[in-house]
Amino acid sequence: MSDDGGAGPLATLRERLAAADERIARQRAVVDGIVDSVRGENVDDEHDPEGATLAWERQQAGALLAEAQAERDAVRAALDRVDAGTYGRCEACGRAIPAARLEARPTATRCVEHTG
Ligand SMILES: [Zn+2]
Repeated sequence: MSDDGGAGPLATLRERLAAADERIARQRAVVDGIVDSVRGENVDDEHDPEGATLAWERQQAGALLAEAQAERDAVRAALDRVDAGTYGRCEACGRAIPAARLEARPTATRCVEHTG
């Protein structure tokens, strides 16, 4: 019935979701660890050079965490589209997104033409 040959985008999306969840858990642990060490040492971000480093690290870890969460949201949205039967269709023109593009970017919501 379905035209997906073998693994297909669903398997890729599920793998990505698991990977994103893992990244989120790891980054959260990193962020928590940095927050704890900042608290533990009661550092002054402005005057303690180590505090500035920690603040920078916390910012980087926070950015990576946000990135992983955005990836998870995008994958979840793609899985919803699979359920709804709209996956792989450009949301701008409604045409099918080429398989090669979906393979490279399984969370793509638009064809190359309509990607801003
Ligand atoms: Zn399009």
